[in-house]
Amino acid sequence: MTITHTGSTLIGEATIAEFAAGLRGTVVRPGDDDYDRERSIWNGAHDRRPAVIARVAGVADVIRTVDLARSEGLPLAVRGGGHSIPGFSTVDDGIVLDLSLMKGIRVDPQRRRVMAEAGSTWKDLDAETQQFGLAVTGGLVSSTGIAGFTLGGGIGWLMRKHGLAADNLVAADVVTADGQFVHASADENPELLWGLRGGGGNFGVVTSFEFQLHEVGPTVLSGLVFYPAEEAEQVLRGYLAAAAAAPDELTTLVNMTTAPPVPFLPESVHGKPIVAVGGCWSGDLDAGEEATAPFRSLGTVISDVFAANPYAAWQQALDPLYPRGVHNYFRSAFLRTADEAAQRVLRDSFATLPNGLTEIHLQHLGGAVGRVPADATSFALRDREFIVNIVARTPTAEGFSDVVEWARGVTSALGPDAGTYVNFTGETNAALVRASYPADTYRRLVELKNEYDPTNLFRLNQNIVPSV
Ligand SMILES: Cc1cc2nc3c(=O)[nH]c(=O)nc-3n(C[C@H](O)[C@H](O)[C@H](O)COP(=O)(O)OP(=O)(O)OC[C@H]3O[C@@H](n4cnc5c(N)ncnc54)[C@H](O)[C@@H]3O)c2cc1C
Repeated sequence: MTITHTGSTLIGEATIAEFAAGLRGTVVRPGDDDYDRERSIWNGAHDRRPAVIARVAGVADVIRTVDLARSEGLPLAVRGGGHSIPGFSTVDDGIVLDLSLMKGIRVDPQRRRVMAEAGSTWKDLDAETQQFGLAVTGGLVSSTGIAGFTLGGGIGWLMRKHGLAADNLVAADVVTADGQFVHASADENPELLWGLRGGGGNFGVVTSFEFQLHEVGPTVLSGLVFYPAEEAEQVLRGYLAAAAAAPDELTTLVNMTTAPPVPFLPESVHGKPIVAVGGCWSGDLDAGEEATAPFRSLGTVISDVFAANPYAAWQQALDPLYPRGVHNYFRSAFLRTADEAAQRVLRDSFATLPNGLTEIHLQHLGGAVGRVPADATSFALRDREFIVNIVARTPTAEGFSDVVEWARGVTSALGPDAGTYVNFTGETNAALVRASYPADTYRRLVELKNEYDPTNLFRLNQNIVPSV
C-alpha cells in the first residue's frame, strides 16, 4: 500500500552544485552516506527516493529551495517533524525541504509567548516552555513536529482547557510559492493566519510559529486506567457519561487496544485486548483527584497508573508505544455525539481488531475547542464532541493492505456525516479533503490558495486545489 508522488528527475549537476554552494544547510543526494537515513520518515509505509534533500538552516535556505523547486518544476515535499501519515514529507524524484535543523525557540515569559522555528518537535518546545511553567497544546507523542501538527489543528492533552495548537497560533513567518517572505498575524495578512490554523501546508512554508502560552503544571495529574475488554460496553457508556460532566481542565480519551508487555500490567493480560482510559488534568492537583475519579471507576480496574507527573514527562510517556519505521495508516471520524450507533461500531470494531498493534481511539473534544467560532480558524468542525482515530499498523508491509481496508471500513461505518481530521488521514483524495471542512470553509480555503499558491506548488498535503 503506497501512495506515489512521482516527478521529473531532470535536474542538472551544475544547478545542484550551485544550489548546494549557496546553502547554509546541507544537501543530501542519492549515493551519499546519510541518504537512506535522511530520506526516511516516521511512517515506514513510505519508502521514497528524493532527488534532493535540502536540510535548510534558515529562511534564506528555505527561499532558495522553494525557488529551485519552482524553477525546475520539481515536486516539493515540506518536512517539519516528518510524522506525516500519508507520507507527504517525502517524495520520489523531487525535492525534500527538510526543516529539522531549524529548532530555535525563544520563550517570552512576561508576554507568555513562544517563537519556535519549524523544525522543532513537541519535545523541544515543551522543554523550553516548561522551564517557565508554561505550555501550549502539543501532540500525544513528543517526537511529532510542531509544524504539521499545528497547521492541521493540533489535538492534545491541554485542548479542552486551552484549545487546539492552531487556536493558540498568533503569528507565523511564511515563505510563499513565489519565494516571498510574509508575516501572518491578526494585523498583517490575517486571512493567511486563518488558513494556517487548520488548512495544512497549502499556503507556503512556515519558517517560524508564535504561540500564546498558558500556565501549566509543571506537575499535572495524568495517566491511564485499564479495564477488561469484556467490559467494553459498560466502560464506554460510563466514559461518555463522565466526559459529559468533565471540567475543561480534564482532557480524556479511550483507547481500545492490546495490552503491551509493560510492568504495570499483569502478565496474564499481556497481548490481550484491553480498554485503556487516559487523561490529563492540568488544574489544581487536589481537585484533580475528584475530577478524574469517575473515569477511574468505570469497571473492574486491572491497573490504575494515574499519578502526579511532570507535564513534559507525561508528554513523552506514550512515545515508546509509537515507534518509527512501523507501517502506519490512520483514519479519523468526528462525531457530533457518540450515540448508540457509534458506540456499536466502536465495540464491534474492537472485537475485530486485526492485530495487536492496531488501536481505536475515542478522544473527547468540547471545552475550549468547542467554544471557538467556526469561522475563526480553518479548523472549523467545532460542534463535534468526539473524534475517533483509527491507528492501523503492521510491523512490515506484510498484511498492511488488510489493516488499511479494515480501518477504512470502521470510518465508513461511522457514517458519511462524520467529517475527517486532516492530521489523522492516512491517504488523500478530493472527497477526504472536502470532508475535513464545512463547505463555506473549503470555499474560503480555495480563495486563499488562489491568492498564495495558484500553481499548486505546495500540493503534497491534504490538498486544497486552486480554482484559477
Ligand atoms: C506518532 C504520532 C502521533 C500523533 N499524535 C497526534 C496528536 O496527538 N494530535 C494530533 O492532532 N495529531 C497527531 N498526529 C498527527 C500529526 O499531527 C500529523 O502527522 C502532522 O502532520 C505531523 O507533523 P510533522 O511536522 O511531524 O510532519 P511532517 O511529515 O514533517 O509534515 C506533514 C505535512 O505538514 C506540512 N508541513 C510540515 N511542516 C511544514 C511547514 N513548516 N510549513 C508548511 N507546511 C508544513 C507539509 O504538508 C507536510 O507534508 C500524530 C502523528 C504521529 C505519527
